[in-house]
Amino acid sequence: MTTTKYPPAFHLLAKPSGATCNLDCAYCFFLSKEMLYPGSRFRMADELLEAYIRQLIEAHQTPVVQVAWQGGEPTLMGLPFFERSLQLVERYRKPGMQIEYTIQTNGTLIDDDWAAFFKRHNFLVGVSIDGPQALHDAYRVDKGGQPTFDRVMRGLRFLQAHGVEYNTLTTLHRANADRPVEVYRFLRDECRSNFIQFIPIIERVPASAHDRSDLDVQRVTPGQVSTAAWSSWRDRPLYTQAGDLVTDRSIQPEQYGDFLIGVFEEWVRRDVGSVYVQMFDVALANWVGEPPGLCVHAETCGLALALEHNGDLYACDHFVEPAYRLGNILETPMIELVASPQQKKFGQDKFATLPRYCRECDVRFACHGGCPKDRFIHTPDGEPGLNYLCAGFKRFFHHVDAPMRTMAGLLRQGRAPAEIMRHYQERDRRLAAAFAVAGRNDPCPCGSGKKFKQCHGRH
Ligand code: SF4
Ligand code: SF4
Repeated sequence: MTTTKYPPAFHLLAKPSGATCNLDCAYCFFLSKEMLYPGSRFRMADELLEAYIRQLIEAHQTPVVQVAWQGGEPTLMGLPFFERSLQLVERYRKPGMQIEYTIQTNGTLIDDDWAAFFKRHNFLVGVSIDGPQALHDAYRVDKGGQPTFDRVMRGLRFLQAHGVEYNTLTTLHRANADRPVEVYRFLRDECRSNFIQFIPIIERVPASAHDRSDLDVQRVTPGQVSTAAWSSWRDRPLYTQAGDLVTDRSIQPEQYGDFLIGVFEEWVRRDVGSVYVQMFDVALANWVGEPPGLCVHAETCGLALALEHNGDLYACDHFVEPAYRLGNILETPMIELVASPQQKKFGQDKFATLPRYCRECDVRFACHGGCPKDRFIHTPDGEPGLNYLCAGFKRFFHHVDAPMRTMAGLLRQGRAPAEIMRHYQERDRRLAAAFAVAGRNDPCPCGSGKKFKQCHGRH
């Protein structure tokens, strides 16, 4: 194998149970994907498991390979499946090669045995949890519509008891998006998560939903249709990459920006260096000028693919749709599909299709237009292809510009970004002193330009 034609490494999420899951989260875009494979049992066969592990290892030119499991719910495959995967890794592992195992789970099936297994084999376990009980249970329910919070926390306790390395993934939606500090403190203090990932929920709806007289479709706010109408729409399309409206369950762009700002303001005062919030780390990397490590805010993408239970390889986890099926690894070697012109174009298009509004944006270096799956609105001058979250991105990236510059400067001097916490603490002390003596009609000492009584002196 020549080495120049192929990427030395890539990320692949394998879905051994396809889209099947023991839960029925209201916003899950994967559940409808079961329809992609009618009649399937949704179980990765042993023959495919072996082909997958062998090809993944062969395709990598790096000393470290990540074996990443996802779903649906991958633990539905049962422990013996994962035991077999480990045996196969040992069979094909190249000398000196290090394998990192990750698994993304809803956590509800994790027990003593699973936790012991994860610990024994150094799995990094990603647990999906949306915040404290009421916020989590708003949408994360099981097939019977029952809440799942207690089961997730139980799974988490097993991981903690066994000393398993884990992180948390929190989706942001109508129920939790206005509660940044509450959600963040819960993840930090109750879940004891020191690697936190937030994913905005954006459920697209075709505009034609408005024309259905038999449905209770209504405009909730401009650009939104009601979730009830969307859920009851019998002809709900199979795939989510269509439509220029979103359900009211979806996060609003500005709400997303404000959520990140709310978390940032807490994090930057006490948790820099001890709690890793993916979005902040990604932003800092872009401010420093290093690869951000997250495709969404990288210039191009295309090296994060998804493997279905039957060997079909797709361009991305968010594009498991016929048009983005690259082929099947039982018919074409995985590396050929990863390096195919179709996949290269998919990755390059992230940059090539940016509207002019993005190309001229002052925070493009940090944003890069976000994920193409969310680019379905128009720019102010009418060009299509702007990211739905643009207003939120702008708000957040502008807000963190000064502290990011400070942290990037600290890094360049070989100092720890955590030093910024001292600046914030000193500033907070100074402000508190100024607030204490400010008159109601004085300019607010925070510098907002408003009167004190209309700003920090409101209460
Ligand atoms: S389409 Fe979006 S999620 Fe997929 S690789 Fe590109 S940026 Fe990442
Ligand atoms: S903030 Fe908006 S305009 Fe700027 S690069 Fe991101 S999506 Fe484009």
